[in-house]
Amino acid sequence: MTKFDTQLISKLADQVMHHKKLYYAGHPEMSDVEYDKLEARLKKLSPRHPALSFVGSEVASSSKKVAHKEPMLSLAKTYDLAELERWIKDHPVVGMQKIDGNSLSIIYEDGELVLAKTRGNGREGEDVTDKIAWISDLIPNLPGKYNAEIRGELFCYESRFVRLVHEFIDLGLERPTSPRNIVAGLLGRKNHQHLARYFNFYAFELISDHKDLQFKFEIDKFSWLSKAGFSLPAPALLSSIEEAKSYLDEVKVVMDQDEIGLDGAVFSYNELNLHKELGNTAHHPRAKMSFKWQGETATSEIQEIIWSTSRLGIVTPVAVIDPVTLSGAKITNVTLHNAAHVKVYDLKPRDLIELVRSGEVIPKYLRTIKPGMGTSKFPKACPECGSRLQFDDVRLTCPNQESCPAQQSGTILNWIKCVGIDDLSEKRLGQMMDLGLVDSIPDLYRLTKDDLLKLPQTKEKMASKLFMNIESSKNVGLAQFLNGLGIAGTGLTSWEKLLKKFNNLKALQKASVEDLVEVDGFAEKSAEQIVAGLKRLAPVIDELFKVGLKPTVSTSLVTGGPLEGRQIVITGSLSEPRSFFEKMIRQAGGNPTSSVSKKTFAVVTSDVTSNSSKMKKARDLGVEIWGEDDLRSACDM
Ligand SMILES: [Zn+2]
Repeated sequence: MTKFDTQLISKLADQVMHHKKLYYAGHPEMSDVEYDKLEARLKKLSPRHPALSFVGSEVASSSKKVAHKEPMLSLAKTYDLAELERWIKDHPVVGMQKIDGNSLSIIYEDGELVLAKTRGNGREGEDVTDKIAWISDLIPNLPGKYNAEIRGELFCYESRFVRLVHEFIDLGLERPTSPRNIVAGLLGRKNHQHLARYFNFYAFELISDHKDLQFKFEIDKFSWLSKAGFSLPAPALLSSIEEAKSYLDEVKVVMDQDEIGLDGAVFSYNELNLHKELGNTAHHPRAKMSFKWQGETATSEIQEIIWSTSRLGIVTPVAVIDPVTLSGAKITNVTLHNAAHVKVYDLKPRDLIELVRSGEVIPKYLRTIKPGMGTSKFPKACPECGSRLQFDDVRLTCPNQESCPAQQSGTILNWIKCVGIDDLSEKRLGQMMDLGLVDSIPDLYRLTKDDLLKLPQTKEKMASKLFMNIESSKNVGLAQFLNGLGIAGTGLTSWEKLLKKFNNLKALQKASVEDLVEVDGFAEKSAEQIVAGLKRLAPVIDELFKVGLKPTVSTSLVTGGPLEGRQIVITGSLSEPRSFFEKMIRQAGGNPTSSVSKKTFAVVTSDVTSNSSKMKKARDLGVEIWGEDDLRSACDM
């Protein structure tokens, strides 16, 4: 079974349930023939899916206690990066997202799912086999007659929670309070098992005595689980502490999006021999460690909710609150994520809320302590362009992609950031747009030096510099180029992953949703966004080629190189144009970037004694400082 199959099963089961409900309520939307076709499609993919035999209500499930053969221990955890570093030392580790759901143990006999149980107290759990039949990414058969136990996390996506809330209310049940509480709540219920179809299951452990399932490395277990069709909590092999830290940065980004409830990351030594050697304490395995950000909470009152349009046209709400101090910072704004969030939690001015801030993560709404008066409200028109907004059950969007100012300047600004055009600030871009010089990304490459001299406070020297910086961005890497287009649901890593498989732009443009879902880490939704985005932007891509862009596939994506995966920053002027050296870095597998951060591998300069801000930062962070010759020899290695 592929990931695409499981997603399709989930979609078909949803449709079957939707139409069954309408049918039993006496107002079907579909003819019987159409409905039978729908059922037949589901039956073909999942012959025993409980949606097929559902008749409006179900037999109450009985729950009984079952012992775990191997105890389900909890994990050692730390909030302290230094402690994590000491624990990792020089071991390669596998990092994975720590999902805040309920752990399940699934038992397969001769390859067939026979029992599902909750973690319970770790020694024994509750039999929930009849409920999990509803969960589409819990596959009923392994690809072989294996006896095995698969462990994983059962949870509810924020977007699916919204739909689950609707169904709860329709059934006359009490409104669930959060995606975190609902999973345990539903597993404990004796009826309404079909609501479990809104849950997802991500596998994180495989236990078996079978010789085919004996692995040397932790990461190999995940490869096997993925091939068997299980969804996974984004496992990644990390060979250094630096890589573990950047993995944590990625987890934070996902946490901030808040589509999936994460409360940190889990690290596991990659060498499974070490797992055996180290064994367990009474409470936890010694070869695994979870890292969490200390979440500090506070309460405050919402003053107002402000809506603004992002460069992708999504109109997002932010609550302005009475200022409070959290983890040493004064907080005045709390993200409310999307319109559905506002609706589901019925958020409005004068609500007394609890908020949380974990590490550097943006403060988030946690729960309502005391609601204000009235009900939540949505804006009808785009705050930027006045277009009538659309609501897709989760988000409000401004449909005016062509001329909504928020979407235009944001799109161009995103491009500038992604391809790294130095000195072209938001303010300068605003001036260019005000003068009518720039209206779209390709316009940047039509600018002449004379055009640039028209900008306020821009003299010959700055105009030349800007012109050169724009010119040199023509040789951008293909992944950066694609990232710069700003297609929803994508980032640099996703494009790099896709290019590893598709190698060039043409192949990627031809790929279907099914092709993309086959690549690890792509859900159907993001695959759909990518396919639609590439199609919609095809004219822009063509135009960019016409104005002289020559994106190159970084050699590291294809073959690796001496600078594979390294970020290199060039500062000041060198003996050749910057584009010359950037190309050299890319051919050695590295990534030329414009700003210095802890991810930077080296800064290249002609003046190693310079006190520019980039150089200062590089010294502060202990980043290597190279002359031109150092760069040349690093690339030739
Ligand atoms: Zn708009």
